Amino acid sequence: MKLKSRLIISYTIIAVFLVVVLIIAYMGCGIICKVSPTVMKSGMRLFNWFSIAALFVALIFSQWFANKISGPLKILTDKTQDIANGNYSEKINLRTNTVEVDTLINSVNNLAATLEGQRQVKRRMANDYAHEFRTPLAAIQSNLEGIIDGVFEPSIERLEDIREEILRLSRMVSQIDNLVALENDGIDLNMQSFDLKALLTQTISTFEAAIFDKKINLKLDMTRCEITADKDKISSVIINLISNAIKYTDIGGNIVVSLVDNKSHVAVIFADSGVGIAKKDLPHIFEHLYRTDTSRTRNTGGSGIGLSVTKAIVAAHSGTIDVKSEVDNGSVFTVVLPKR
Ligand code: ADP
Repeated sequence: MKLKSRLIISYTIIAVFLVVVLIIAYMGCGIICKVSPTVMKSGMRLFNWFSIAALFVALIFSQWFANKISGPLKILTDKTQDIANGNYSEKINLRTNTVEVDTLINSVNNLAATLEGQRQVKRRMANDYAHEFRTPLAAIQSNLEGIIDGVFEPSIERLEDIREEILRLSRMVSQIDNLVALENDGIDLNMQSFDLKALLTQTISTFEAAIFDKKINLKLDMTRCEITADKDKISSVIINLISNAIKYTDIGGNIVVSLVDNKSHVAVIFADSGVGIAKKDLPHIFEHLYRTDTSRTRNTGGSGIGLSVTKAIVAAHSGTIDVKSEVDNGSVFTVVLPKR
């Protein structure tokens, strides 16, 4: 029942109860007085006692009713205090007969669950970042210690290995910076009109050397398509998706990039014949720092941040990104963007 109806019904019951009791008492007094005017005095006394008793019963009922409402509110107040102190794990398992109070209980439970979820994500991220940083740092440390102790020659190859790990660390730091900026400040889009085909062709051409080295067969299937978007950010999306496609495609594999113009939307599809992604990994690859086992064992040098940045940029344009993939059968990433 709604709180308002509950209040109206309860107050009406109390009022009706008082009126009925007073009428009965009044009539009782009248009868007594008629029967014997001499007992009028005791009749009046009886009326007074009736009134006091009625008031007393009404007070008890009001108290019971007030407890019914304030009880759950007190529990809710304690729970919100608990939440303020960082204790999100316990749920309020309480059902009342009042719709608004039940809704409030649900909202507080949902708030606690959301905060608990965020705390777990934060913990996992801190763990993941620590883990990701530890590996290159350990490699740098062991190489440098080996050189200092005279165990390793300070050869060009070894110094290049060290430089590679340092570059990997600094790439991770700048990607984390980007991600934090994107998530904290929202994404500031600098919208402009441009030809998406030209941007795709130009961006992909910067990967010519890598494509040539891996003897990858690249096919571009596009027509001119004018869109309004943040050109630099869309360029980052293209860089991430094409570099992943190259990274996870074996020598001699195929990559097809297509652009499909659908009146109000445009779809950019990156299809590769690479290692593919296992079913269990698919729901997670857009999460921060998520890397599949294949990516780790192949030591691709990836950090698992690129796709989360990509997804945030696409979402900021009110677009979508999705992936279809099968292990050993390649992957297809589809980005759909509104044209304006
Ligand atoms: P990374 O820098 O590791 O490539 P991303 O966030 O770009 O990070 O990608 C997350 C993970 O998704 C990768 O580590 C890889 O396991 C998987 N992945 C992304 N793109 C592809 C692809 N085209 N083929 C196979 N796996 C991919």
